[in-house]
Amino acid sequence: MSESTKLHERRVRAVAQGVGSVIGSYVSHARGATVVDVDGGEWIDFASGIAVTSVGHADPRVIEAVQAQIVRFAHTCFMVAPYESYVAVCEQLNALTPGTFDKRSALFNSGAEAVENAVKIARHVTGRPAVIVFDHAYHGRTNLTMALTAKAMPYKHRFGPFAPEVYRVPMSYPFRDGLDGTAAAARAIDVIAKQVGADNVAAVLIEPVQGEGGFIEPAPGFLPALAEWARASGALFIADEIQTGFCRTGDWFACDAEGVEPDLVTMAKGIAGGMPLAAVTGRAEYMDAVHPGGLGGTYGGNPVACAAALAALETMRVLDLPAAARRIGGVLTSRLRALGLPGEVRGRGAMVAVELVLPGSVVPDPGRTQAVARACLREGLLVLTCGTYGNVLRLLPPLVISDELLDQGLTILEGALRATAD
Ligand SMILES: *Cc1c(COP(=O)(O)O)cnc(C)c1O
Repeated sequence: MSESTKLHERRVRAVAQGVGSVIGSYVSHARGATVVDVDGGEWIDFASGIAVTSVGHADPRVIEAVQAQIVRFAHTCFMVAPYESYVAVCEQLNALTPGTFDKRSALFNSGAEAVENAVKIARHVTGRPAVIVFDHAYHGRTNLTMALTAKAMPYKHRFGPFAPEVYRVPMSYPFRDGLDGTAAAARAIDVIAKQVGADNVAAVLIEPVQGEGGFIEPAPGFLPALAEWARASGALFIADEIQTGFCRTGDWFACDAEGVEPDLVTMAKGIAGGMPLAAVTGRAEYMDAVHPGGLGGTYGGNPVACAAALAALETMRVLDLPAAARRIGGVLTSRLRALGLPGEVRGRGAMVAVELVLPGSVVPDPGRTQAVARACLREGLLVLTCGTYGNVLRLLPPLVISDELLDQGLTILEGALRATAD
């Protein structure tokens, strides 16, 4: 019996089945873009732990920073006894996020927690209740963020009732709606104005490129039009850059591509080389509007996670990971487009999706999508699926992946896509 099979038997008896896993193998260690399981099996990683290990597994700077910090102190709670690394992370986020205006930041543990806090800040600043979200959105699994998330199964099914004052409006989805950014924004704004009322809106919350919903990149002009509407309406424009941030899309943040300057940005995932850390960064006048003690949490901005973040940010700068993401994305999209698949190959930087449909239609093909993902897993390539219709393969390799591994992974994926063509 393999070591993974033995571990799986223990897992089934010990771990709640509500927590799923993509592969049945258990990890021994990981380096760069390679994951090794407890039976010595090797996996090429096109998942990065869901867009987290952008600097690669076991980044030497991250390891050194974590080791140095853990022997100094693991925790004091920043709200009890503060420390320099928290301040340094905030300084860097203030400088890196879109917009040159004065900013402040606050640190948390998870993406959902960052989103919750961004909504808290927006409601506090505006004194208004309503939060506008979009079709296909994903913002997390806590009660408020479940309400903000679009998809029922698996995220919301039988977990209600959900937090109130959340309103969903149409997303720009060029492959399916054929609208340009201006028309798609007008459609969304019309729903907001008629069904919610501009004066009731605290925040417009959007992923600049949607993640779990299917790697949906809105048409050019959509985000600037919404940001402009929010500004004119006295609402905050919040960009959820939890999946898109930190070089993934070929810029430091996805909003950079169109020069959109959000009032608040939520961040997590790629921020700290695999350590749990999240943040909200935004305009100083909004962030500082909240009374002392109104924001925080026991572990938020943990010193080991902050040390890891400072190291990961250094690696992103030194290795120019925005450029690496653009290069990786170019290789992925050009080779996948050459296959002439029914559907769409799309991507910004190294956030690449293959949306599969039935030939000659736009009818989603989740069956083929799952078959391709399973075939890749059998061949040692870690890939994920996503999308409201479950018909999107999403590719998120570490941005430090070598050309050889990228080529090997792509070859496996191409083989699986060809084998499932009918
Ligand atoms: C993953 C994700 C979240 C939730 O982050 P957690 O750390 O899992 O709570 C929120 N928003 C987006 C866009 C995400 O991709």
